[in-house]
Amino acid sequence: MRKFVSVIIIFLFSVLTVFSQDNGQPVRIIMIGAHPDDCDLDGGGTALLFASMGYAVKFVSVTNGDAGHQSEGGGALAKRRMAEAKEAGKRFGVEYVVLDNHDGELTPSLEIRHQIIREIRNWHADVVIAPRPNDYHPDHRYTAVLVQDAAYLVAVPNVAPDTSPLQKNPVFLYFQDNFQRPNPFRPDIAVDITEVFDKKVNAISAHQSQMFEWLPWIGGYAAEVPASSSDRVAWLSKRVSSLWTINPEVEKSLEKWYGKEHASKAKFAEAFEICEYGSRPDENKIRLLFPMLGK
Ligand SMILES: [Zn+2]
Repeated sequence: MRKFVSVIIIFLFSVLTVFSQDNGQPVRIIMIGAHPDDCDLDGGGTALLFASMGYAVKFVSVTNGDAGHQSEGGGALAKRRMAEAKEAGKRFGVEYVVLDNHDGELTPSLEIRHQIIREIRNWHADVVIAPRPNDYHPDHRYTAVLVQDAAYLVAVPNVAPDTSPLQKNPVFLYFQDNFQRPNPFRPDIAVDITEVFDKKVNAISAHQSQMFEWLPWIGGYAAEVPASSSDRVAWLSKRVSSLWTINPEVEKSLEKWYGKEHASKAKFAEAFEICEYGSRPDENKIRLLFPMLGK
């Protein structure tokens, strides 16, 4: 009998982990980046953890990536990058959508604001994650502005009335970056992604045109890229690992969420800052939305 009761308790716990909102609905996450590979790099580990718990995760690229190559471009490159994004989406276990706006030419227009509002509404998002508006790349900056502009309007019925407004304003978060002005990134939430690091690198390697061609070319390290595909993933793993190593601020956040012992063992993390717009979660709400955080 005791065994039966504990089986029931374990079952209820797993159901509650997936359906952990106050309203009993599964948690839905949407990550919005400027280019096909941005969400992958900034939030892919967290997405893998969410997906493994049965959460619905969607990546949106606001541009089609048609400027991101040294020798290819236009429609052919957009098509290639769409196929790479779909493959990455499969490996992450998320839905991947690439909007057909030109790369390198993004502006915070009304038309694209409405595209973003529709994406957030149609996904019935509980959590929206996007870049901060301080960034070297104008597409990243304007993606941030577009998402901030949508943050209140997703609940306003008269705006983009062809899609139903959200009944509840989602929680809006920022991806981590290293820009210091006007204010540095604040890691309010830090997710230990050590256990999914290899999976993350493997999923990111689906963006071949970027990881092995464009980024090495523009970064001046094209000569380092190995020829064989198996060597390439190992090379990429070394190349990108520094992006998610844990700085002292993120370490403090990991200690808060997981405790000191767990935090000291973590090798890689993804951190997020709570945006002032949208609904403001307290600590309990964050633990409900991010059940991978330790107790
Ligand atoms: Zn980008």
